[in-house]
Amino acid sequence: MKEIVIIGGGIAGLSAGCYAKMNGYDAHIFEMHNLPGGLCTSWKRKGYTQVSVGVNMDLSSDANLSNSVYYLYELDKPIMIAGEEKKHIHIKNYAFDQTFAPKGKSTLVVAFYVESAYWEQIYQDKEKYKKEKQNVETAVISSLEQIIPGIKDKIEVIDVSTPMTLIRYINNWQGSIMGFINGLILNIPRTLPKLKNFYMVGQWVGDAGLPGAASSGREILELICKKDKKKFITSNA
Ligand SMILES: Cc1cc2nc3c(=O)[nH]c(=O)nc-3n(C[C@H](O)[C@H](O)[C@H](O)COP(=O)(O)OP(=O)(O)OC[C@H]3O[C@@H](n4cnc5c(N)ncnc54)[C@H](O)[C@@H]3O)c2cc1C
Repeated sequence: MKEIVIIGGGIAGLSAGCYAKMNGYDAHIFEMHNLPGGLCTSWKRKGYTQVSVGVNMDLSSDANLSNSVYYLYELDKPIMIAGEEKKHIHIKNYAFDQTFAPKGKSTLVVAFYVESAYWEQIYQDKEKYKKEKQNVETAVISSLEQIIPGIKDKIEVIDVSTPMTLIRYINNWQGSIMGFINGLILNIPRTLPKLKNFYMVGQWVGDAGLPGAASSGREILELICKKDKKKFITSNA
């Protein structure tokens, strides 16, 4: 049986692995992290720029907040995040899924797009990095208080993740969460010159996000099957 070695068990690597198995290849996925999933994994840890907040408040009936999209709020008092002034914050309330928080409690995520270079530089000094994460936490709490008065004293858990977090856990370039946008339209090659039987899959060569990464895994297996003159199978049924 022909072997396929896949480096990286993100959504693209897993997708390539599934289609490889379905098409009769002996697939091996090598993942550096102890969990598969890459950017769609979640980790339990102590400590992007994304701030996840667990609050002892039921925010499920809040019309603006309880939807699976980020809502944009204008702040009366702007905050500084990673050296940039932010006049707005994006909040996502996970109340659309009851498994995210115990009854009566809520999970919110506040996200900011920032330059990873800022974090990369500050990361050299662990104390500075820790302090800057603390600054982000304080700024986010004060901005949440502007939008949801009383929330400050109800926060039970809070976690700040920076681009360095993604670099540290899964070594993603510049801690980017999406890769190049419209990779397919840019026609990024999936092979490298002189490297036979080597293909690239994932968000950097596919279209943006989960669908693009997952479909890039499938497309490469379709191509390998075509090269091997095999019928491409897309279901176990
Ligand atoms: C907070 C956040 C929110 C997002 N929201 C959305 C959204 O709403 N919609 C959407 O479509 N997309 C979203 N995305 C983007 C989406 O999750 C990614 O584009 C997608 O998961 C990328 O998958 P991938 O397999 O290409 O790469 P990755 O997930 O980066 O997987 C690569 C894997 O390779 C491993 N690896 C790296 N180097 C090595 C090595 N040397 N040896 C072995 N293994 C290695 C890594 O550990 C990782 O598991 C979001 C991402 C984040 C972080």
